Amino acid sequence: MTRDERRVSAWVGIGSNLDDPEYQVRRAFVALAELPDTELRVQSPLYRTAPMGPQDQPDYINAVAELDTGLEADALLAQLQAIEKRAGRLRETRWGPRVLDLDLLTYGRECISRPGLKVPHPGIGERNFVLLPLLSVAPDLEIPGLGPVRQLAAGIDREGVERLE
Ligand code: AMP
Repeated sequence: MTRDERRVSAWVGIGSNLDDPEYQVRRAFVALAELPDTELRVQSPLYRTAPMGPQDQPDYINAVAELDTGLEADALLAQLQAIEKRAGRLRETRWGPRVLDLDLLTYGRECISRPGLKVPHPGIGERNFVLLPLLSVAPDLEIPGLGPVRQLAAGIDREGVERLE
């Protein structure tokens, strides 16, 4: 296979708890579909979830999406950050409220750990707001180094997570 033909399945976690979060997440799906050399393959249902970290902030809306992309992992992360920026995200408090948070959850079967990019995304194995959307659309997805989503989600606390219609 030549380099030009290399396509990768990448999963992205989406979260928002400011400025009409449902709208922000739906708009993020559109922005992901418009990325260069990339197709939006799967979009999960939306979930309303209790905030992680500081509790004095609104609930989140979360979802996940699968991309089929020819972008390298760093280029894809840069594109995700550009989408966040366009949505008006200000980087302030850790785990504080945000208009849009996009995480690169997986990039093919790769394990990457360098400054600025860790894949699979740290915390993926414990976060119900990532695992439950993944379970709904990709139960057999193998998270490199951790195992299949179905297995990871089996023991997860479902408290505070509600699937929206
Ligand atoms: P966050 O607050 O989750 O948006 O964190 C963003 C920071 O995490 C940025 O500095 C990224 O470079 C870094 N980061 C490392 N790995 C990832 C990843 N897999 N997805 C998104 N951000 C990442």
